[in-house]
Amino acid sequence: MSHSFKAAVLKAPNPAHPYAEHKPLSLETVSVPAPADGEVLVKIAAASLCRSDLSVINGVRAWPMPIVPGHEASGTVVETGPGVTAVGNGDPVVLVYQPQCGTCPACLEGEAHLCGPGLAANRKGELLSGGTRLSLKGSPVHHHMGLSAFAEYALVSEKSVVPVPRDLPLDIAALFGCAVMCGAGTVLNTGAIKAGDTVVIAGAGGVGLSALLGARAAGASRIIAIDPDPAKLEHAKRLGASDTINSGDRRAAAEVLELTSGGVDIAFETAGKLGAFEIAYDSARRGGTVVSVGLVDPKTPFQLDVAALVTGAKTVKGSYVGSCNPRTDIPRFIAMHQRGLLPVEELITHRMPLADVNVALDRMEDGTAIRQILTP
Ligand SMILES: [Zn+2]
Ligand SMILES: [Zn+2]
Repeated sequence: MSHSFKAAVLKAPNPAHPYAEHKPLSLETVSVPAPADGEVLVKIAAASLCRSDLSVINGVRAWPMPIVPGHEASGTVVETGPGVTAVGNGDPVVLVYQPQCGTCPACLEGEAHLCGPGLAANRKGELLSGGTRLSLKGSPVHHHMGLSAFAEYALVSEKSVVPVPRDLPLDIAALFGCAVMCGAGTVLNTGAIKAGDTVVIAGAGGVGLSALLGARAAGASRIIAIDPDPAKLEHAKRLGASDTINSGDRRAAAEVLELTSGGVDIAFETAGKLGAFEIAYDSARRGGTVVSVGLVDPKTPFQLDVAALVTGAKTVKGSYVGSCNPRTDIPRFIAMHQRGLLPVEELITHRMPLADVNVALDRMEDGTAIRQILTP
């Protein structure tokens, strides 16, 4: 049996501000068929807004249109297609925006975040099982990252969900789908930081503050948060930053070198801005590591002084989905949360109905929100 429900549809990218006025997303009644082989229907409990959603809406990154965005969410499985084994009806789940096919070379190597078929399906705006399922007045609508969670329901591959404990509130569970994997996951997996390491977090938004929590949990001896927004630096301080530097009015990297006598062991770019990457790069000590996780505008390449890279013996890494294997890392991070080591609920600054999603976009754009929970 097919299902009809409300979803926030983006018909074409629109960078016009304020979003609340221009309303790039409109709530429409969309339909999906019953789940096919390996697919599940999830009733969305909470979706949160991530900065990379903005790049879908304003067109900085090209996606097939029309599309229903939303890639950080949780819910309850309400219907399963034939052959589904990972979850059953009534199971609480977090949605995962990088589906893992389980059989490609990356998946077999244990690098589920690099799953080739998963990435290919995402780029086409399709499900891992092939094609689109969403439709609006009979015309196809694309899936964002195999999820399209700004909606009352999401029809997804069973390889796009990970079950979560029943006692974990679903609004908190949603954060594990992107903010926690990209932030804490980047620090713990890609950065593989050791207790006692010194760390720079360049960008104190949702991913940056999540990275900060990961660095704190791992026992970093010094965590220097850098951002142009004093309110975000305050937030970083509350979550355990040992130092904060306002990059708006100071030469941040020079200050880091001074504070740490030559730079930090690991510097993370968590803002999706070229300026933040430059600060992170310049803040790492000789022999140190630079990890970039934000999605910088693809039209702004970084000029690399290769000779300085060599003499500085730096390592530069990109981190996609925090190098996570969602099936093993999400339960690990939830267990850390339940032990009080990753208080990710501290990232939530706003809650509102899904109908107010355009207002939420403005808050994300102007930097007044960290994580906003949208409830359908
Ligand atoms: Zn995200
Ligand atoms: Zn794969």
